[in-house]
Amino acid sequence: MGAQQQPDYDVIAIGAGFAGLGLIHYIREAGLSIQVFDKASDIGGTWTWNRYPGAASDSECYYYCLTFSKELLQEWKWTVRYPGWEENLSYMHFVADRCDMWPHIQLNTEIVSADFQEDSGLWQIKTAAGEAFTCKYLVSAMGMISEPVIPDIKGMDNFKGPLFHSARWPEEGLDYAGKRVGIIGSGATTVQMLPVVAETAANVTVFQRTANFVMPAVQQPMTEEWEEDIKAHYDEIIAKCRNHVFGMAFDSPVGRTIEETPPEEVQAILEEHWPRGSFRFVFETFDDLLSNPESNKVAGDFVVSKMKEKVKDPEIQEMLTPKGYPFFAKRPPLDHGYFEAYNRDNVKLVDIGEREPIVEITETGIRTTENEYEFDIIVLATGFQAYTGAQEALPIRGRNGLLLRDKWDTESSSIMGVFVADFPNLFMITGPQAPFANLPTSIEENIKYIVDCLNKMESEDLDLCEPIQQAEEEWTAHVAEIHEQTLMAQGDKVHSWMMGANLENRNPRVLIYFGGANVYYDKLRESADAGFPEVEFAQMAG
Ligand code: NAP
Repeated sequence: MGAQQQPDYDVIAIGAGFAGLGLIHYIREAGLSIQVFDKASDIGGTWTWNRYPGAASDSECYYYCLTFSKELLQEWKWTVRYPGWEENLSYMHFVADRCDMWPHIQLNTEIVSADFQEDSGLWQIKTAAGEAFTCKYLVSAMGMISEPVIPDIKGMDNFKGPLFHSARWPEEGLDYAGKRVGIIGSGATTVQMLPVVAETAANVTVFQRTANFVMPAVQQPMTEEWEEDIKAHYDEIIAKCRNHVFGMAFDSPVGRTIEETPPEEVQAILEEHWPRGSFRFVFETFDDLLSNPESNKVAGDFVVSKMKEKVKDPEIQEMLTPKGYPFFAKRPPLDHGYFEAYNRDNVKLVDIGEREPIVEITETGIRTTENEYEFDIIVLATGFQAYTGAQEALPIRGRNGLLLRDKWDTESSSIMGVFVADFPNLFMITGPQAPFANLPTSIEENIKYIVDCLNKMESEDLDLCEPIQQAEEEWTAHVAEIHEQTLMAQGDKVHSWMMGANLENRNPRVLIYFGGANVYYDKLRESADAGFPEVEFAQMAG
């Protein structure tokens, strides 16, 4: 090390989900010290916060996991295709236990500030309890969909019963049996929550602003034969994820397009793939679903026709029909009985988009322009400030005291979602302008890249890694150019978190690299192989 002071830890990471656990493994392997802090009472990230009924992964279990240990992959046993939050948490405990990670994890510890110290070249973090720690490398492992969006609805404090965001479902549980439940929002969270809550609640009312394209999940038990097959092919599965545009172990319909396939054959292929469930419908059917507007419409119409087969009431069918934006311009939720739930007598759908917007929350429920609804419990399933929310929730100060949230005021720029100019030695895992993909795949690729950078710095006695402003501008321009070519840039109703368009008082921006996760992982590798040309390395003077 140049003239740098000795920090408390080489690496401090904030967040003990997949990213925090993965970091502990790879950083220890590099021979560096690491401490991971999390404000939650348990590890698990998303899975410790999102304890709402029905919460489950939308990635299939066998590639929704960390892959650094072949033994662990062979040892762990999943019970279903899409594990619920409890099973995901058990898996993460299994990883932490088996890899002796607990000494590196400090829970119940909220980080309230992170400051780059110009004089020492170290980062200092402070906790809510008043502790302070220094590190050479600070890593944001806080997750890309973790900071809840609480809508600004009049009278929210007046409601007498429990009212909370879906990602803050009470940890001790909540007895909703026989209760009247109101859910604001109809995204992936509500699609999972509704069928489970409706089973025992007195009634459930969903307040929907925008209808979604919803695809079937097709939950399945893990059978012995399936498990054996998975475990015999893990190398191939990992390679498939690494080389897939969405980071998932899918096959690609190379060269097959809706445009060039006769219409009857198109329908037959869509029908054949529909019952298989998962995002496979999008990625294993045709290559032009997300690029050709006509092909996209064919697939979108097919999805809507399937919804109509399930929902009995034509009026509800109409309300559940997405309008004004292309299929996949909002992230499509996966269905575990969502549509069937609307056939129940105790489930109601309210259109707050056009017919009866919410006016206020009262002591006893929700008042719209047309009606008053009484509830015992209100859940705000209103989504997240994706990609940037967690990093902006605490003050992170880089060079000259620059606040990250100020830097990202109008544009959330980065270099490949990992580096940010003016924030030396700060690394993000799945930061803004990284792809949206199967998260454990992206997380592990990000970690390997970051650890390669740290290894270079340690072996060459370097103190500082300064992201280059021009490289950031180039990446930001590149990401914007690709975004413009996608269907995501179309539609007048795309209030999608994928563009930060779900936030009031903030301009939408390009948050996601849509060039393909596989292409992105290649770019990370090229950068590492070329010695990280996007950053400047330096030693502290002295
Ligand atoms: P979301 O998809 O952003 O949905 C939020 C819902 O709340 C939308 O229906 C939105 O309406 C509505 N809303 C927001 N603000 C509102 C307001 N002020 N008044 C009325 N309605 C409002 O959020 P989410 O369902 O929590 O899902 C977010 C993402 O998290 C998903 O897309 C997914 O990537 C991830 N997730 C994953 C899983 C999984 O993998 N198993 C499960 C849940 C979530 P508009 O559409 O009109 O804005």
